[in-house]
Amino acid sequence: MNDTLSAVLKTLNERQYQAVTHNPEIPLQILAGPGSGKTKVLTSRVAYLVQEHKLRPSDICAVTFTNKAASEMRERLNLLIGEEQTKKLRLGTFHALCARFLRQWGKTIGLTDRFTICDADESKKIITNLLKAYDGQLKARRLTLQPGEVLSSISNAKAKGLSSADLFAQAENDIHQIIAELYASYTEALKKMNALDFDDLLVYGVRLYDKEPTLAAWCQHVLVDEFQDTNSMQYRLMLQLAAIHRCVSVVGDPDQSIYGWRAADVGNISAMQKNFTDCKQIMLEHNYRSTGAILGASIAIVSQDTSRIQKALVTDHAQGTKPALLTFAIEQTEANFIAKEIKRLVACSGGMLSWKDFAILLRFNALSRTLEAALQKESIPNRVLAGHKFFERLEIKDILAYLQLIDNPNYVPAFSRAINVPSRSIGEKTIAAVLEAAASREKSPMELLEGIYEGRYPDVKPAVKGKIREFIPLHQQLRTMANEGGAVPDLIRHIITATRYEDHLRKTQPDWDTRWENVQELINYAQQFDQDPEDIVELPSVEGEDGAPETPLRLFLQASMLSTDTESDDDKNKDTNKVVLSTCHAAKGLEWPVVFVPGVEQGIFPFYRNDDVAEERRLLYVACTRAQAFLYVSYCSKRMTAGEIKDRTISDFISKIPADQKKVFDKAAPIVGPKCIEEVAKVLRRDPPDTDIVEKATKEFGSFAPPRENLLDPNANIYKNTIRGPGSHLAFSSSRNTEP
Ligand code: ATP
Ligand code: MG
Repeated sequence: MNDTLSAVLKTLNERQYQAVTHNPEIPLQILAGPGSGKTKVLTSRVAYLVQEHKLRPSDICAVTFTNKAASEMRERLNLLIGEEQTKKLRLGTFHALCARFLRQWGKTIGLTDRFTICDADESKKIITNLLKAYDGQLKARRLTLQPGEVLSSISNAKAKGLSSADLFAQAENDIHQIIAELYASYTEALKKMNALDFDDLLVYGVRLYDKEPTLAAWCQHVLVDEFQDTNSMQYRLMLQLAAIHRCVSVVGDPDQSIYGWRAADVGNISAMQKNFTDCKQIMLEHNYRSTGAILGASIAIVSQDTSRIQKALVTDHAQGTKPALLTFAIEQTEANFIAKEIKRLVACSGGMLSWKDFAILLRFNALSRTLEAALQKESIPNRVLAGHKFFERLEIKDILAYLQLIDNPNYVPAFSRAINVPSRSIGEKTIAAVLEAAASREKSPMELLEGIYEGRYPDVKPAVKGKIREFIPLHQQLRTMANEGGAVPDLIRHIITATRYEDHLRKTQPDWDTRWENVQELINYAQQFDQDPEDIVELPSVEGEDGAPETPLRLFLQASMLSTDTESDDDKNKDTNKVVLSTCHAAKGLEWPVVFVPGVEQGIFPFYRNDDVAEERRLLYVACTRAQAFLYVSYCSKRMTAGEIKDRTISDFISKIPADQKKVFDKAAPIVGPKCIEEVAKVLRRDPPDTDIVEKATKEFGSFAPPRENLLDPNANIYKNTIRGPGSHLAFSSSRNTEP
């Protein structure tokens, strides 16, 4: 064992140590609350298996919930077992792992290794097209059906392993039947284009190991993080991977199961105990992340669920500052407060806290607009985690469409997009006619278009010919470049030059300059990828694999498509000192010194569209337990909702905290001063700043947050009266205790 690993083992508590060093042959389930070191244990266990049990890294499969979590785990493992070994691990999300298995062995189940991965947006477009055939039928029966609705039904069915025939058999009404039919035609359409959507990656992954169970012989150990949020396909895949060696370690927390709406099944925890009767369970009860006060408030929220199994969870940290529960007049005051409060804390911490130490966690993305504006007004750099995702941006999709077409000329979404970028005045009808003609001749749309261009199909829409005189030669040049091993960044450069893409953006997009920067960023990403593909692709090849060699282009496209699941613009850019705006879902597993959870109101928390109120409560619990030192929960008495200003009420999750526990929240922002900052330094295990600096800063910026009345007045300058000395403390405290 190397020194780094043995040093880490020494920091573990007894239970953690027991978990890390537990006999690999006996299945292991670690169930524990947030911040108890589950991910740390899982990561250390991987290192321990490699170093102590001499498992080959390529025989270990470690599954994370997001790509971001995978890269964090990879970074930690780089330190523990070195980059060389870490690279060889099969480490990634279930989706990324399946993509790799299918490229390697997909032929076994009739797939080609050239499949394109189709993202949610493209799936939606395909469904939108298929839905057209049902227009008349739906209208006649006065029914409506949105593409998003269809897609999520199909996705749920796939996550449960149901086929279109299964859905059809279960259909209880016309809509169900139409969805089942659309499921069948959608499957057919994807098959024709040689494309797999995200759910298919799992479905086919499972099918692969069903057909050839011996393929799992390589898997000496499978480890799964966030096990409570696995769906039934993912669970099956885990069983398949473990079928031969039966070596499994999982970590999870039933209180943090928040993906029921995506068919995750917390029942997998008990299922695993049945599948592996010798399964050892270890509970961890020490929280290393948060202060006592934050943990107390979080537990007060989650324990309102009486069906929940109570778990012990204590922190070694001091009680610390009470979480703040604040009311605001309207969302702008809430947002302005948050922005100013971040500035205050940065200043008053004497530089110990910087922008990256703050996160604002939202129930859904749309809430970020007001906050982004407020942060911008205060010149606070910020980034949206899993917000408008980089690879879903128009300009990025335009370029990717050209690349996808080189890799897979059958891929209709890319074809329909690229053909009109820049605009070649080729209408929907023409595109439909081309697709139909291609299908009837059993050609890919690109082959057909090349034929038209070369005059081989005079009968098909000859009007197109003039319009594609630049498109076809460009496609052919790109294909040649790619076949000759051209690097992806060069392909992209060629696309943007040949299409005069900057001009196209300038003419068509008001914010063309930001978009153009994004295109440059795509080139940077491709460049970085070109130099170190393993770092992004996550799965190394193993000896003896019999799949076709990956082309750099295909690997690049695969990584881009898979990262749309969770990553955002800045995730690729690692050294970002920025405030994070994120959904609560995407914040799972992460931690920040200071966390704000705004909009804790009925309708938002619980979200009106989710019937599972208990799941919504757990989501708030997940959000609050991300905080290490300071937590702010807030709500507004009015908020712009669907274009109208509406009255709002505080979330039941807060108002229904039993009276004897109500004091877990303070009704004011924390008083920050040298003593408080010293305590925070301890929680964060950082060096405290110089007391003089903190004192000076608190004098200048005000050690106290603005009085409550100001927060409730949308026009008040919330910080006008806060530059005061320590003597004004009393006046402030009386004003903050006047909550109705
Ligand atoms: P979540 O449920 O939110 O995913 P988790 O149980 O996976 O949380 P980790 O993220 O592994 O918890 O750990 C939380 C924090 O506690 C991390 O900063 C980690 O480094 C730290 N930590 C865990 N165990 C110890 C320990 N024994 N000593 C010191 N710090 C620890
Ligand atoms: Mg974790």
